[in-house]
Amino acid sequence: MTLRNGKEFLMIPGPTNVPEEVLRAMHRPAIDIYEGPLVETTVYCLARLKQLFKTEGKTYIYAANGHGAWDAALCNTLKRRDRILVLESGRFALGWGEAAEVMGLEMEVLPGAYDRAVDPARLEARLKEDTGHEIAAILVVQIDTASGVWNDIAALRKAIDAAGHPALLMVDTIASLGCVPFEMDAWGVDVALTGSQKGLMCPPGLSFVAAGPKADKAHETANLKTHYTDWTFRQGAIHYQKYCGTPPEHLLFGFRRALELLQEEGLERVWHRHALLGEATRRAVTVWAEGGALDFNISDPHARSNSVTVVRFKGDEAEALRAFTKETCGVTIGGTIGEISGKGIRIAHMGHVNAVMLLGTLSAIELGLQKLGIPHGRGGVQAAMDYLAGVV
Ligand SMILES: *Cc1c(COP(=O)(O)O)cnc(C)c1O
Repeated sequence: MTLRNGKEFLMIPGPTNVPEEVLRAMHRPAIDIYEGPLVETTVYCLARLKQLFKTEGKTYIYAANGHGAWDAALCNTLKRRDRILVLESGRFALGWGEAAEVMGLEMEVLPGAYDRAVDPARLEARLKEDTGHEIAAILVVQIDTASGVWNDIAALRKAIDAAGHPALLMVDTIASLGCVPFEMDAWGVDVALTGSQKGLMCPPGLSFVAAGPKADKAHETANLKTHYTDWTFRQGAIHYQKYCGTPPEHLLFGFRRALELLQEEGLERVWHRHALLGEATRRAVTVWAEGGALDFNISDPHARSNSVTVVRFKGDEAEALRAFTKETCGVTIGGTIGEISGKGIRIAHMGHVNAVMLLGTLSAIELGLQKLGIPHGRGGVQAAMDYLAGVV
């Protein structure tokens, strides 16, 4: 018996649900790329991106996924054989570092673990050892969707300052911008980047980079530039240069609508919604964990992210549970990747998500735990509701 016919829920950590308004904004004919509404849309998007990243720096739009933004950030600011320090806390910072190696940069990993946030004290200690200032850039992810960790970027900045180190600080906010607070200028972030398909509620295919003054300065001597990613070319006066070619028009119309939706809701309210849905999820998982079969991947409660919750199973029930929620209930939840591949689930609460979608998802998971006989504390969904009843 299946109960799946009805609206399908996609609750994976990217791509995320695209609002109807965003889909409708894209449903229009192609238009002239040299004048008119498209030019105005570019101006709007570049300016709103500054407000999202909270920066006075420059913003760039790429017709690319997050990996494209990784490349753009690196090749615009670094020189062949520069050393980069990758702060490990899951999978994605390492992936970014591997992209850097392909480009001809020297990667050093500050060892971390899959179940915890980057330790600012360890970063400070490593930077203090680097008396010759060989490390040119530090790469970190604010929220890692593989581990579910939230890294405290402000604390990492303090560690860099305490070591008196001049390296550029580069932050991947692909799974966090538009979900949790991010303050590029206030936190002294030199390069920040994100993608369209997670907190920003758009189809995949656009990514965004913001660069502060120190990154601009580094750009002057960078020698890994490519024509397509080059910031200098993209700052040119002609609209065509902003995209180094034909703009991804339809994605831009959708993105513009998504930016308007974020503005209509208000960024602080958007962050608050994510905080409430994240905590409701954690309340449910805490109760389920009482059965002993599963637990949070991230052990420190303070380091659990508000956009995705990663749950690890002691046995091998995760894939059966995912199949049940999808095939029987109509909700797709994420599987785990990297080091914990196949050993858990990732419940996304990122982007266009409300209480119904989250509670429905949690209910399907609890139903699956019961149906499959996976030991769990009963009443996880009740705990999520009890929490929400107290805060809304
Ligand atoms: C999804 C994700 C990426 C990769 O983005 P793509 O668009 O798939 O290239 C990078 N970093 C983080 C933190 C992510 O969550």
